[in-house]
Amino acid sequence: MTAEDILNLIKEKQILMVDFRLVDMPGRQHHVTIPAVEVDEDMLTRGVAFDGSSIQGFRGIEESDMVMRPDLDSAYVDAFTAVPTLDLVCDIYEPSGVRYNRDPRFIAQKAETLLKRSGIATDAYFGPELEFFLFDDVKFNSDPSGSFYSIDSSEAHWNTGSSDGPNLAYKIKNKGGYFPVQPTDSQHDIRTEMVLELMNAGIRVERHHHEVASAGQAEINFRFDTLTKVADTVMLYKYIVRNVARKDGKVATFMPKPLFGDNGSGMHVHQSLFKDGVPLFFEEGAYGNMSEMAMHYIGGILYHAPALLAFSTPSTNSFKRLVPGFEAPVNLVFSKGNRSAAVRVPVAAVTPKTARIEFRTPDCTANPYLAFAAMLLAGLDGIKKGIDPGKLGYGPFDKNIYELSAEEKAQIRSVPGSLEEVLSALEDDHEFLLEGGVFDRDFIQTWIELKRTTEIQPLSMRPHPHEFQMYLDL
Ligand code: GLN
Ligand code: MG
Ligand code: MG
Ligand code: MG
Repeated sequence: MTAEDILNLIKEKQILMVDFRLVDMPGRQHHVTIPAVEVDEDMLTRGVAFDGSSIQGFRGIEESDMVMRPDLDSAYVDAFTAVPTLDLVCDIYEPSGVRYNRDPRFIAQKAETLLKRSGIATDAYFGPELEFFLFDDVKFNSDPSGSFYSIDSSEAHWNTGSSDGPNLAYKIKNKGGYFPVQPTDSQHDIRTEMVLELMNAGIRVERHHHEVASAGQAEINFRFDTLTKVADTVMLYKYIVRNVARKDGKVATFMPKPLFGDNGSGMHVHQSLFKDGVPLFFEEGAYGNMSEMAMHYIGGILYHAPALLAFSTPSTNSFKRLVPGFEAPVNLVFSKGNRSAAVRVPVAAVTPKTARIEFRTPDCTANPYLAFAAMLLAGLDGIKKGIDPGKLGYGPFDKNIYELSAEEKAQIRSVPGSLEEVLSALEDDHEFLLEGGVFDRDFIQTWIELKRTTEIQPLSMRPHPHEFQMYLDL
């Protein structure tokens, strides 16, 4: 779209406000809203100024002036505003006119440029599967557990850690949510409403269903696309899901493990490489019909996984999901079928074009621009170095991992156990991310510092409810 197209769209749709949006380092959207009558071609091509000082991870106050310049192809007529509003996703620039190195979208774009220059492939496709919970939206502190949400009362099941919580209402069976029809599936209509809004926004939705957790866990899938585009879609998807939920008196949360003792929410990421339209991951008859290149890509992902997780499972809560028993990956291995494996090779109904790997470790607390870029760089490093995951002991492990002998089990590496561990791993292993200047040292250091000071430390200083169980009477 050109600036002229946008100005025409503003007229045609009688847009009153134009919303300029950017994404910060942790992955939150921020915006500045400008009356449409003030928007001209100049503003659409040069962008608007904003104060970067109060955005997490961005500039200090002494040099806070920044510019956000819209990507005109991202135009979306907002379905949730009181007056017709056009949302535009922006790239971030320094006042001097150069791109800002801490703009996550810039990193995603650089990763795509690097791929094209590498000669290995022209396009990387990403297909993330986002899972989320819907809770009743109750006012802060008004529910007896003292939290600001409560479980969807229509699927009331209170997770007390055992399957026998107090029966406060009609209670579906533990794990009974996946995936009987209505009326057990009481969230069918709200998911459908979300799907229609996603489609209105131009997102190609493929399916929706209730997920495995007992109370109100959902998944809505959309079609894969290239890296930056799909990261933009993830942001828009979260915006739409949250706002439909809000309208219906619910809160949608993408946090990886909101409930103890029940399944968490992941963001599995399907990935494949193409060169000028030719799929590169398929080889009939090989293990999982995976080409050698696909195997090396898997090798790169698994080899760099501890560092990679600093971008793909980047919250303290992420590691509460990565525990055995809930279909979340706990083993740093690859496998055709095993859902406890970090990398799964889908084999059902796969064609050369749909041949792909599925990295199951990520969750929705990842900033999609950073996480997808980091995954691509890890995979490319595997291809360049010819990392054979089998030789390094990463599998394949297709047997039920619980049935392996103690000796076999001892060989299987586990995913790291905490945010601190993966940040330390990133400190030690980040050369692959610096390739082609996609990430730079400033960004990586800022990321580690931000995660330690704004997430790990504040959490570690707070008494936890469970500590009362353990220590109150000691
Ligand atoms: N919720 C599971 C996870 O945490 C995945 C369940 C599934 O999609 N099979 O990854
Ligand atoms: Mg799925
Ligand atoms: Mg799922
Ligand atoms: Mg999946």
